[in-house]
Amino acid sequence: MQTLPEAKLYIDGKLRSAAGNKTYDNIGPWTGEVVGKAADASPEDVSEAIAAARRAFDTTDWSTQHDYRLQLMKKYRDLLFANREKLLLIARLEAGAAVGAAFRAQIDGALNGMDGMLECYPLVKWEEDRGVRREMGFDTKRIVTHEAVGVVGAITPWNVPLYVNVGKVIAALLAGCTVILKPAPDTPAMGAIMGELAVEAGFPAGVFNVITSAHPAMAGEMLTTDPRVDLISFTGSTAVGKLIMQNGAPTLKRVFLELGGKSAFIVLDDAPNFAQTVMGSMVVFHAGQGCAYPTRLLVPKSRYEEAVKALEMAYAGFASKWGHFEEPTCIMGPVISKRQLERVMSYIELGQKEGARLLAGGKPRTDKGSGFFIEPTCFVDVRNDMRIAQEEIFGPVLVVIPYENDEDAIRIANDSIYGLGGAVFGTQERALRMVHRIRAGALSVNGGMSITGDLPFGGYKQSGIGREWGLEGIEEFLETKAIGIRV
Ligand code: NAD
Repeated sequence: MQTLPEAKLYIDGKLRSAAGNKTYDNIGPWTGEVVGKAADASPEDVSEAIAAARRAFDTTDWSTQHDYRLQLMKKYRDLLFANREKLLLIARLEAGAAVGAAFRAQIDGALNGMDGMLECYPLVKWEEDRGVRREMGFDTKRIVTHEAVGVVGAITPWNVPLYVNVGKVIAALLAGCTVILKPAPDTPAMGAIMGELAVEAGFPAGVFNVITSAHPAMAGEMLTTDPRVDLISFTGSTAVGKLIMQNGAPTLKRVFLELGGKSAFIVLDDAPNFAQTVMGSMVVFHAGQGCAYPTRLLVPKSRYEEAVKALEMAYAGFASKWGHFEEPTCIMGPVISKRQLERVMSYIELGQKEGARLLAGGKPRTDKGSGFFIEPTCFVDVRNDMRIAQEEIFGPVLVVIPYENDEDAIRIANDSIYGLGGAVFGTQERALRMVHRIRAGALSVNGGMSITGDLPFGGYKQSGIGREWGLEGIEEFLETKAIGIRV
């Protein structure tokens, strides 16, 4: 298997090694072997990146040059597109993406998403005339302005690294903020290449910085607690999201959180192509490592047996179609790490102990190679109060829950601490009535796309706070100022 060039830090406009040339091994999920080296930032490196971002925000006109930033981001966009093959290789080698999944969500989803944000940018209102108002006996002309928040710490996970990096970094830079990107320890190369391309695009020093680190928490905690950082934009687990809120409290950090999910895939009894729709609910794309993935299948009791049969066929038909590194149509590879494999396996054991019936899969697959492979897995006869129905597994595991009627389906869908995504399949009017009542941020009716770069994305309840992507995603990085001029 190929290897990747060393992932370097990008601080104050320069690509460089970490202090003392410290590096760590980037382990590839397909083989469990080293696919590259990455700079292992020290606390001093992190502090320098924060200082550079602070300096660029406070002492340059970056935040007020709205058109210049747009032109620069367009140039950066072109460079990202021109490097699509390189990005694809990184997604495959370090994030474990299969080619069929890599082209879609990992790379093209991110690049097209960037275009969506660039389209939204002209909609930002930097200044609004709020008219003249007579108050306290005299007239005041009022203006409301929207300005960049300041220095942003962007902390990202490993599952779709380019997608999440772009969603945060581009929106924050368009808004006029300066940014320190801290990728997950498992996916440093996808962060580092963004630094390399920033150099090529000619970004001013300090406006964008990238720090990679082997330690899961050190750099993220420094960003979260440092008073020089104004906002943390975080995507990752709900547990770490809560820690970030706590750690950010002493400096009253603005926090934006994209967290976990356990979304529902509801098939109504009148869904056209009922069996085919049910078959489409398999959790296999990128081995189920997607936050908005609908991983709870809700099917009507009246058609439950039919649904189980359809799933049995679907999983049997898929048995030989996953885990192929070179196959262009393959959409499922390994999970990211040994740790994640063990975590998913512990949920598969738990599901059996809880009394759910294993319809398909359930085993790690060492015959696929030395990487982290788990069979596409499906549990039926699941109750929504089981832990496998309540907790995010983040692996190729679908749980199937029967429901009585529409009301019951809505109740089950909402009976979750999460509220990120969801899908309903059925006659349009009925499905639409249901999605209005599901407490989640991105809902699909009959397979429609609710997650694209020009639409806001984010969670209800413990799935997060705030919105990313689209106009709302850029506005997340803006402050509001009211100005009164006595006339
Ligand atoms: P994680 O929460 O362990 O780590 C995410 C990031 O936070 C990493 O960069 C990590 O180094 C950093 N981090 C860890 N501890 C920290 C701390 N104390 N302070 C600051 N930063 C810290 O999550 P993960 O294992 O990398 O990713 C999987 C999780 O991410 C899943 O739960 C998944 O649902 C979630 N996720 C959510 C979305 C979304 O948009 N909602 C997208 C992708 C992944």
